[in-house]
Amino acid sequence: MKKFNMRLLICVAVLFISAQANAYWWNSSYTKTKYPIVLVHGLLGFDQAFGVYDYFFRIPAQLEDGGAIVFVADVSAANSSELRGEQLLEQLETIKALYGHEKFNLIGHSHGAPTARYVASVRPDLIASVTSVGGPHKGSAVADTLQSVLVPGSTLEALAETFITGIAVFIEVISGGAGDPQDVIASMVSLSTTGSAAFNASYPEAIPLSACGQGQYVVNGVSYFSFGGTGVITNLLDPSDIVLAAGSVFFWGQANDGLVGRCSSHLGKVIRDNYPWNHGDEINQVLGLRGLFASNPISVYRAHANRLKNQGL
Ligand code: CA
Repeated sequence: MKKFNMRLLICVAVLFISAQANAYWWNSSYTKTKYPIVLVHGLLGFDQAFGVYDYFFRIPAQLEDGGAIVFVADVSAANSSELRGEQLLEQLETIKALYGHEKFNLIGHSHGAPTARYVASVRPDLIASVTSVGGPHKGSAVADTLQSVLVPGSTLEALAETFITGIAVFIEVISGGAGDPQDVIASMVSLSTTGSAAFNASYPEAIPLSACGQGQYVVNGVSYFSFGGTGVITNLLDPSDIVLAAGSVFFWGQANDGLVGRCSSHLGKVIRDNYPWNHGDEINQVLGLRGLFASNPISVYRAHANRLKNQGL
């Protein structure tokens, strides 16, 4: 009996030590990409609010824990893909000048994805990869509906513009980026089906040629990936689910995440387009609230960083 206990003790000790070693290895190099990761926020997004609250909730720190160097971009909360792209490009140039990084892995959520594509298109020499998370590459039915309802020059449009600009300015203030130009109408044009088609004609890299296929995996030396969700109401405790449920109505039954359709999210290599996530879950919001059995977004971002690492990016 004593002998058995001793063996059991040794077994437990070995398991404990190997788990610790595994955890150390996991944390030290699992996400250690060759090039820094730059996270790019979407419409009405921010880098960090009040200096503590992440748009990509708890994701930057978790990627850093595994060895990645992470930067979080801060572009206008509401503006065109091109203008936001120019802002992002300027920030990358600054980081390069300060720290000497030659290239970057861009991960853009929602409007952050076309923003990242713009930079990869005009400056492929600076970009190792672009990853789109819930990006509206072929437009959003919600933006289309808003555009059709808000007739240019109407009182309703003026009111909506004032209201949304107010939110955008508020976001910039709380995230310390006050001064970035806001243009709600330009953002709606960029996110609409017609605006996206015009953008894709100018910046076509990795856009699927068929309605719901994949795009080219590598263009001009830049690797392209995408993932997205098709959940809508995923957690009754999350107040943002109500807004996304309202947005999903405009898709008339087609799979969507509350703001972006499943096929519109495709770019380059489609890793997965139907996580049971809504548009907020894709960035681990709000406060990590998601469906009971849904994949943890932090784990998915970490696994993706590991994918980039294994591809030498
Ligand atoms: Ca959520």
